Amino acid sequence: MDIILLGPPGAGKGTQAQRLVAEHAMRQLSTGDMLRAAVKGATPVGLEAKAVMERGELVSDEIVSALIDAELTAMGPDTGAIFDGYPRTAAQAASLDEILARHGRKLDHVIELEVNEDALVERITGRFTCARCGAGYHDVFNRPKVDGVCDVCGSTEFKRRPDDNAETVRTRMAEYRAKTAPILPLYEARGIVSRVDGMGAIEEVTAAIDGILG
Ligand code: AMP
Repeated sequence: MDIILLGPPGAGKGTQAQRLVAEHAMRQLSTGDMLRAAVKGATPVGLEAKAVMERGELVSDEIVSALIDAELTAMGPDTGAIFDGYPRTAAQAASLDEILARHGRKLDHVIELEVNEDALVERITGRFTCARCGAGYHDVFNRPKVDGVCDVCGSTEFKRRPDDNAETVRTRMAEYRAKTAPILPLYEARGIVSRVDGMGAIEEVTAAIDGILG
């Protein structure tokens, strides 16, 4: 099964993708994570993407679609894909159709996480992850059980994304509204869009998504 998680920055796409991966035989394909890895490794893609990401703008369609294509090739046909943060433009949606067809795959669901935009800035500016295993946390909504220690792997090192600041978040929201939200009707016309209330507790949102996946 292949699904897209769609929603503005801070809607909980990454959190939910990580939980779905743990429950189902699926893989999270986050172009944001791939790009951050490229920036960290100072690869040619990373060098090109770094400043764009810091401004909260979108990296070129060609770069992100090539990343997705390569991941699907490496994954093989038996593992389901959770597209997290891709596609983000009409051109990427068209590329995804072409890429999936070439890999003999098809999209089963597009799940839109509906959220109140006012809550997003607080969600985003408070979030941090374990530097070792990537588990996600939040200063207010999802603290580690023991302060300063990762619940999952016990690491005491955490990190915050450089683009998770109030100013960049506003650009990221504007990009979402202008370029990403308009791709929804394309999938609606195919009858594969479901909407989930993304404002509920993390477990409630996962349960709602599980209900859609069946
Ligand atoms: P994310 O982790 O999904 O919030 O992505 C972080 C940043 O990476 C975005 O603000 C963009 O600069 C870039 N990015 C991630 N995915 C894409 C994509 N599909 N298309 C263009 N830029 C992307």
